[in-house]
Amino acid sequence: MKWSFKIARIAGIDVRIHSTFLLLITWIGFSYWISQKSIVAVLNGILFILLLFLFVILHEFGHALAARKYGIATKDITLLPIGGVARIEKMPKEPLQEFWVALAGPLVNFILAILLYSWIFISNGFPNINQLSLTGGSLLERLAFVNLSLFLFNLIPAFPMDGGRILRALLATKMDYARATQTAATFGQGFALIFGIIGLFSNPFFLFIALFVWIGAGQESSSVQIKESIGGIPVRQAMLTNFQTLSPVQRISDAITAILSGYQQDFPVLNGIEMVGILTRPAIMQAIAREGATVNIASVMEKNFVSVNSDEMLDVVMGKLQTCGCTSVPVFEHGALIGLITMENMGEFLMIQSAMKRVKTNI
Ligand code: ZN
Repeated sequence: MKWSFKIARIAGIDVRIHSTFLLLITWIGFSYWISQKSIVAVLNGILFILLLFLFVILHEFGHALAARKYGIATKDITLLPIGGVARIEKMPKEPLQEFWVALAGPLVNFILAILLYSWIFISNGFPNINQLSLTGGSLLERLAFVNLSLFLFNLIPAFPMDGGRILRALLATKMDYARATQTAATFGQGFALIFGIIGLFSNPFFLFIALFVWIGAGQESSSVQIKESIGGIPVRQAMLTNFQTLSPVQRISDAITAILSGYQQDFPVLNGIEMVGILTRPAIMQAIAREGATVNIASVMEKNFVSVNSDEMLDVVMGKLQTCGCTSVPVFEHGALIGLITMENMGEFLMIQSAMKRVKTNI
């Protein structure tokens, strides 16, 4: 994620902080200073927020470690002012596995809440129910309440909350994945509506959650629909077969001629029939700016590139395109380069597919 930096590496997963998070800390400190004019209050306020986000990180580790149990890696966990994001490579499609991965996060907060409340109970007796809030009570009581809230909030059965995924996983044991998603999304939007109405008459915060959930539900169901519609199609059917290649001994000026003569963004670089690299448009631009147009392609091309096999399914390839952050991926068959797949031509393919479906249903 842009504008974020690494602060730690735990259990093989990078923990990153987004720069805007520091703004949040500054803002919290500043608002405590304005209202209480004491350094102790400022430090206490910041300490509370840092601990709150520590629990958010632990929540994300819950998801990540559960996913690892099913052989799914997590790229990193990034802390944003609105919460944490674990970049888990993919969600498991096996309903029971998705259920556990989704539940593991909230479960961490549930266990922490129990531990903290037990600690409070052992040391001071039962806390006063009326004091349970984010602002009242001792630091320990507030932290226990934070975990209880994180647990309950994330269990709201609506996307993009964990509760939405848990609901889908449970539904998916009884029906197919796309219908389970659709049903869970509709249920979530119903929930958003109720939240919205509550928000109108009481706390505007609920309105915000309603909006968040409404958008999340729509996105999840359309992304699953796209995946379903391209799931059974091999990449061979959607790839570009008419494309230009370059040779490593050619110069960047040849690449510029190639760019100007067509729409191609990236060029496979071939040494004979063997693909030895890929030359991307940004790399070409950088090379011109740095060294001029006479430099050899071999010294500019990207030697490590992601490739796919012609019989891989489009949904898998789409996932690869998204995670590698590249604009095109070469397609191989029996070790030979036979095509290129780009986000653009994948989009065109989807458009044609959906148009053809419409024609079929109209008949
Ligand atoms: Zn979660």
